[in-house]
Amino acid sequence: MIYFDNSATTPIHPEVRDAMLPYLYEIFGNPSSKYYTQAARAKEAVEQARGQVAQLLSCDPDEVVFTSGSTESNNMILKGVADTPSRIAQHIVTTKTEHPSIIETAKYLEERGHRVTYLDVDSFARANPEQLQGILSSEPTPPALVSIIWGNNEVGSLNDVQTFSRICKENNIFFHTDATQVLGKIEVNLHKDMIQFLSCSAHKIHGPKGIGACVIKKHPSGYKTKITPLLHGGDQEGGYRSGTLSVHNIVGFGKAAEIAFRDRKINHKKLLDLEEYLVKKITNEFPDVINMNNDTKDKIPGIISVNFNGINNELILQALSEEVAMSTGSACSSGNPSHVLKEMGLQLEIIRSTLRISLSSSNNTREIDSFLSKLK
Ligand code: PMP
Repeated sequence: MIYFDNSATTPIHPEVRDAMLPYLYEIFGNPSSKYYTQAARAKEAVEQARGQVAQLLSCDPDEVVFTSGSTESNNMILKGVADTPSRIAQHIVTTKTEHPSIIETAKYLEERGHRVTYLDVDSFARANPEQLQGILSSEPTPPALVSIIWGNNEVGSLNDVQTFSRICKENNIFFHTDATQVLGKIEVNLHKDMIQFLSCSAHKIHGPKGIGACVIKKHPSGYKTKITPLLHGGDQEGGYRSGTLSVHNIVGFGKAAEIAFRDRKINHKKLLDLEEYLVKKITNEFPDVINMNNDTKDKIPGIISVNFNGINNELILQALSEEVAMSTGSACSSGNPSHVLKEMGLQLEIIRSTLRISLSSSNNTREIDSFLSKLK
């Protein structure tokens, strides 16, 4: 099977699997238990993983809160900020091309009386910081939270997160970014960038599913940023996220983050080369049939969105299903035509003939050649 659906999930790296196994067998203790070695070793492993994730994101380890993944982290930040007593029923700003875990949470908050503004996007799904500036200068009270996806999961476009976060910092507004798709693909430096909250997930970087993190930056003077937790209980993760820690998954996430950090330069170059190879070949092979929907610059390397003029995308997927894995867009959008492509201004017939091909550093040019001959 040629696997070109790496934006949906990635296979577990063998080093990640090997790191996880002892925590499924010998070291099964609960890291919150006291005094016996089993528990202490589990706790040590969790803290090591926290350090590994913090290194990839350039933040302090105590700013990493383990969650079940980006869906949970996105819910936690939007609901958690909206619920903070001083911010109840205030305004949230996001974009029209966020992942469903932001859009649906925002809609839920609207039903609960909050006001949400969805910023427009351009023909490559990028929001414009000037629209945010416009909102700030026309309204007497600033929003409670601005949440902007860093890299789009369907077309790979990067938002200008630095400018958005600077505007928020200058206006004393919380800024959150969904960094799920950019993790390990572009540099994330939370010591430098003025980002308060960030969501990410292990299974996009060859780690296990069901584990991710929400970064909650401390206030510059060191005190913890307050939000209402999504899960109340035993006070794990500094009270931000209760529940017994999934030690084997956390260890796997830590290892995947360590590898992503270690191999970041090689992987980046490899993805750029693979994308260039694929785009050149596919446009040469099918000059009258395909058009690219994605931008060629300021994007996540390895994600391309191709429109096969007049050919139904689901029929292509089905015809190749035994041999090639790709997708029509987000795996989380339950069969509806992509809201991202719609907001980019594409007609329904183009959306219905679009495929997302998403590569990882474990792909190679032989797979691309073989894919193209099958496609033909
Ligand atoms: N945000 C983005 C941009 C994503 O691509 C995804 C996964 N498709 C998510 C959030 C949800 O992540 P998870 O699978 O970890 O819940």
